[in-house]
Amino acid sequence: MSDYLKTGYLKNEDVEFPKSDSLRGRMVAVTECVQEIPCNPCAESCPVNAISMSGINGVPRVDFSRCIGCGNCVAVCPGLAMFLVGIKEGKGVVSVPYEMLPLPEKGSEVFLLNRKGERTGKGVVSGIRKTDKSRNSVIVTVEFENRELLKSVRNIEVIK
Ligand code: SF4
Ligand code: SF4
Repeated sequence: MSDYLKTGYLKNEDVEFPKSDSLRGRMVAVTECVQEIPCNPCAESCPVNAISMSGINGVPRVDFSRCIGCGNCVAVCPGLAMFLVGIKEGKGVVSVPYEMLPLPEKGSEVFLLNRKGERTGKGVVSGIRKTDKSRNSVIVTVEFENRELLKSVRNIEVIK
């Protein structure tokens, strides 16, 4: 595990990631939750029990083979620490929790941001899903050509 407490962000190698071959035509949840805090809405929201935790203070782990990519865990996570990744028609697809304004428009081009907030490329918004009414966040799904970015795209920026 890299020194994320000093840097403030994880590196690719810190994150358990599904094999690329298993992502073709499907979306799978990836967790980047590393803090041992009393929290478990992600696990509670999963309809197929794909998220396990060693007690309420444990960090979640996703059983990639079991996950059906429903996005419930992304929608409920208060720490914005759950994401969906997949491959669709050869393109990389990532769904991220998004709490900024303005909201992107479906079909629009956006910047892809890594964990440091750096622009790493551009993608096209293919879906926007509202989360629970009590939260002002949405889940933005973005597609992009460079599949290498699947491991690192964790936010988007609207192009003005
Ligand atoms: S995306 Fe759905 S099925 Fe997959 S881990 Fe999250 S809640 Fe469970
Ligand atoms: S809901 Fe989010 S913050 Fe809470 S344990 Fe799950 S991934 Fe971590």
